[in-house]
Amino acid sequence: MITTQTRDRIGEMPVTVLGSTGSVGRQTMDVAAMHGLRVEGISGAKNISLLEEQIRQFHPRFCAVENEAAARELKIAAADTDTKILSGRSGILWLAANGDCRIVLNSIIGTAGLEPTLNAIRAGKNVALANKETLVTAGEFVMAEAKAHGVSVLPVDSEHCAIFQCLNGEVHARVKTLYLTCSGGAFRGKTLNELKLVTKKEALAHPTWKMGAKITVDCASLMNKGLELIEAVRLFDVSPDQVEVVVHPESIIHSMVGFCDNAVMAQLSVPDMRLCIQYALTYPDRMPSLLEPLDFKKIGRLTFLEPDEKTFTLLPLARRAVKEGGIKTAVLNGANEAAVQLFLDEKIGFTDIFQLVETAVNDTPNKEHPTLKDLEQADCAARDTVSRLVR
Ligand code: MG
Repeated sequence: MITTQTRDRIGEMPVTVLGSTGSVGRQTMDVAAMHGLRVEGISGAKNISLLEEQIRQFHPRFCAVENEAAARELKIAAADTDTKILSGRSGILWLAANGDCRIVLNSIIGTAGLEPTLNAIRAGKNVALANKETLVTAGEFVMAEAKAHGVSVLPVDSEHCAIFQCLNGEVHARVKTLYLTCSGGAFRGKTLNELKLVTKKEALAHPTWKMGAKITVDCASLMNKGLELIEAVRLFDVSPDQVEVVVHPESIIHSMVGFCDNAVMAQLSVPDMRLCIQYALTYPDRMPSLLEPLDFKKIGRLTFLEPDEKTFTLLPLARRAVKEGGIKTAVLNGANEAAVQLFLDEKIGFTDIFQLVETAVNDTPNKEHPTLKDLEQADCAARDTVSRLVR
């Protein structure tokens, strides 16, 4: 039962959306519009026409634009509104920590999302996290900061949102296995030789989810599942061996949790990020959503397969990186971001991503108990390694 009281409370809960022009950001604005959420701040890199549209629709108090020239243009375009335009990286970092909101949804792409996440946490704000790289690069650090500041990190990634729902009311010590489901990506069933010839266009055609370019390439290489494995280890405080990847091409079960009595809880829905976004914003409550209900008669059957880790080597590499710990996951992520960008710029082939990331991880000496600075340096060094290898 949805009571008026609940609806009022959610309507009154202001949110700041970092990365509001990206795929998750735009879907967050759909959820905000449906529930009449007050949007305190938005941010984007340079898509000022969409930012202007969002300013006029949601009347945020602040809008941060990373690109300085774009910010100047938007200031003129939105001069008749009450929204204050902030510019540059410093504007985004300020917005993450300020304003009248209790929750910051962070959907900035890549390691660039780490500092804003930390700023929000240190300002005592809950974070709805769609930026998995934050947890891959510096997860132990981020989770410790959240604990120290008494705030929550709420997963927006669909698999982690599913696990989060399956863990409701359960005792952590009774959790045996987290089953991360995986669509298999655009290239499921392909051999290594076939993968060498795939194009950017083919890599960007995801079978079930509509997402941004970087994550869609990660899905095709199975690196996304590797990053999510690391994300799960950090978010839910389990060992890497407790996380099992299951290929589930229909993308109806979004992940599962197995317990010590061998009972398994699963969360199912049509694949639509708006449910994950909304759950992070309404948690621990639920609200009607923009999703179609599941029609089991139409679905017919759900299938499960083992991932092909012999061909898609980035998945076992990610598992090894999180087991080794130290700076290895930061290296893995930095190298992957650089390699995927080179692939999107059509400078390297698809399987070159595998090679480059593996070389970066293997050739970088590890450092135990790294500081945040060590992790940031490892991330930069890994990007340099990749560009050096390609030159
Ligand atoms: Mg996911």
